[in-house]
Amino acid sequence: MEIPVALDTYFTRLLATKGKPLLIAGPCSAETEEQVLATARGVKALGNIDLFRAGIWKPRTRPGSFEGVGSVGLPWLQRVRTEVGLPVAVEVATPRHVEEALTHGVDVLWIGARTTVNPFAVQELADALAGTGVPVMVKNPVNPDVALWAGALERLERAGILDLAAIHRGFSTFTPSRYRNAPTWQLPIELKTRFPHIPLICDPSHIGGRRDLLLPIAQKALDLDYDGLMIETHPDPDHALSDAEQQVTPVRLGEILDELKYRRRSS
Ligand code: PEP
Ligand code: MN
Repeated sequence: MEIPVALDTYFTRLLATKGKPLLIAGPCSAETEEQVLATARGVKALGNIDLFRAGIWKPRTRPGSFEGVGSVGLPWLQRVRTEVGLPVAVEVATPRHVEEALTHGVDVLWIGARTTVNPFAVQELADALAGTGVPVMVKNPVNPDVALWAGALERLERAGILDLAAIHRGFSTFTPSRYRNAPTWQLPIELKTRFPHIPLICDPSHIGGRRDLLLPIAQKALDLDYDGLMIETHPDPDHALSDAEQQVTPVRLGEILDELKYRRRSS
C-alpha cells in the first residue's frame, strides 16, 4: 500500500492544532479508582496534557509482580473522560483487550514493548483493530531491532489502521547502563526516516527508569524534534505498585515540563 507522506490522522491533527509536542501523562498502572482520578485531576490542572495513560493489563517480565487490575479499571477511565475531561489510553496485548477497551470508550490504544516483539500477536491485534477507527501507538520492541518495530507499524497500516504514532521507550541491553533501557537514539531516528508520516513520541520514564533522568532524556527528545512525550505520573510514586522509581507526581511533572526548552517546530 502506498502511504502518503503527510497524513491527516488523530495525532497529526492534534499536533497541528497544538503547534507543540503532544504530552501524555498518567500512572504506569491503574491501581484504584481514587488513584486514577487523583492523577487525572492533577495532570489536567497542568493545562497542557493531551492524553491520560494508565495500564490496566500489565505484561510484566516476571510472574508474581502486579499484573494490573484488569477490566474493573475501565469504568475508572470512563470517569476520567467524563468527569475530568481528558481522553484516555490503555495498553492492549490481545484482541479481548481491544474489545473490552473499545466497549468502555477508551480513546487511544497502545501496543507495549513486550507485544511488539511478536509478529503473530501484532497481526492478531491488527485484525482486531481493523475498521474500529481507534488511534494506536506502537512502542518499540524490548530488543534493539528496528525492523520488528517497523514490521508492527506495517502490519497495522496494511490492516488499514493509519491513525498511528510510534513510542520510543528504549531497548534492553546486556551491558550495564545508566539507563533502564538504553535510548540508542539512532534506532528511532532510523524508524522516522522510514515512517516520516508517523509521529514519534519519547517515553523517558521507561528509558531512564529513574526520576532524575526524566528531564535530560525528555530534553534530548525535544532537541531531536520528537512529536511528543509520555511520562508516568502517580500521586504517591514511592508506593506505586509498578515502576515506582520512575514515576513523578503531577506537580513534579509540571516542573519538568516548565524546565524543558522547546524548539520551534519544523512542521
Ligand atoms: C508501560 O507503559 O507501563 C509499559 C509496560 O511499558 P513498556 O511496554 O514500554 O515496557
Ligand atoms: Mn510502566
